Amino acid sequence: MNNWYEALVRDCYREHDETCGAGASCGVRDDHVRNVYVPMALRDRVEAAEARIKAVREMHGPWEEPGHRVCRVCTAPAEWEETYRAPYPCPTVRALDGEDA
Ligand SMILES: [Zn+2]
Ligand SMILES: [Zn+2]
Repeated sequence: MNNWYEALVRDCYREHDETCGAGASCGVRDDHVRNVYVPMALRDRVEAAEARIKAVREMHGPWEEPGHRVCRVCTAPAEWEETYRAPYPCPTVRALDGEDA
């Protein structure tokens, strides 16, 4: 099991003991944590991760140039002598999609 998951479960036990009416002496403490607190914490974690992915994806959005679409972040300004044109989707967006760059 991943360390982050064990840490999340530990946090859930702590939060349970602080917020469950019965505290640490809750008669169904393990079930309560596993079935209520852990799913809520996982949902929060997934939502936060997806929000960050969305922000990166929007940051690396397409920019229309004559003849082609490029990534507006990974493309160097046109006034640079050595211009780099990253076709959209750029390697960052492809990595978010789970494709090899
Ligand atoms: Zn409880
Ligand atoms: Zn990019």
